[in-house]
Amino acid sequence: MLDNLKILFHQGKQYIPDVTTAKVPGIFRGRPVISTEKVNEAELAEICPTNAISINPVCIDLGKCTFCGECAFAFPNKIKFTTDYKIAANDPRMLVIKEGYDEAIGLNPALIREEIYQCFGSSLKLRQVSAGGDNSCELELNACGNVNFDMGRFGIEFVASPRHADGIVITGPITANMAGPLQICYDAIPEPKIIVLAGTDAISGGIFEGSGALDRSFLTKYKIDLYVPGNPIHPLTFINGILDLIKKR
Ligand code: SF4
Repeated sequence: MLDNLKILFHQGKQYIPDVTTAKVPGIFRGRPVISTEKVNEAELAEICPTNAISINPVCIDLGKCTFCGECAFAFPNKIKFTTDYKIAANDPRMLVIKEGYDEAIGLNPALIREEIYQCFGSSLKLRQVSAGGDNSCELELNACGNVNFDMGRFGIEFVASPRHADGIVITGPITANMAGPLQICYDAIPEPKIIVLAGTDAISGGIFEGSGALDRSFLTKYKIDLYVPGNPIHPLTFINGILDLIKKR
């Protein structure tokens, strides 16, 4: 007993007491801030491997950004990545960061369906579908339930069967081979249900955008309830986005 208490004292808290205010290390790349400093914009846009940067004015679309950091390395006075991990949104326009703006990204309450508040405020079970993913976002989604992030404390969990789920979390760019299984899984989830896109690949196709190996027609058929940028996503981005969606604070 005494030995166990000693171990507990030595290890301290294993969980993050407040996932809404937790700090992440400085090397983490979260929400970028773009200054109004004049640079060669064409050269800046050319650096980006996923065409996430548009010019005049300079903007970064976090739905396309792989967070590689190349733009910030080349133009350190123009682009800086902050450690702000609260970058999930329910309106893709909110993911476009404009130069001269340094404002938090949030969800638009008007776009959240009423049944989400009514049905999922106390419990939300999710089914994850890796639609051609590389296992990076999947790994981070697993981490959401570990002892550190402990998403289960909010009643949010991943389940094995779509029959037991309230929504679907899609990772990967949605390959043609996975389009059918994704549809089958979605159809098996009872109404009402939500759709979450986790990671750059799911939101825009990422580096695979435009590939003939993809079939992203699923996304044109349904309303997307939450976009979670990141490459891969950070567990704190995912958890805070879901909490904002179901209004559970
Ligand atoms: S960090 Fe994002 S915007 Fe910058 S070059 Fe990489 S992908 Fe493009």
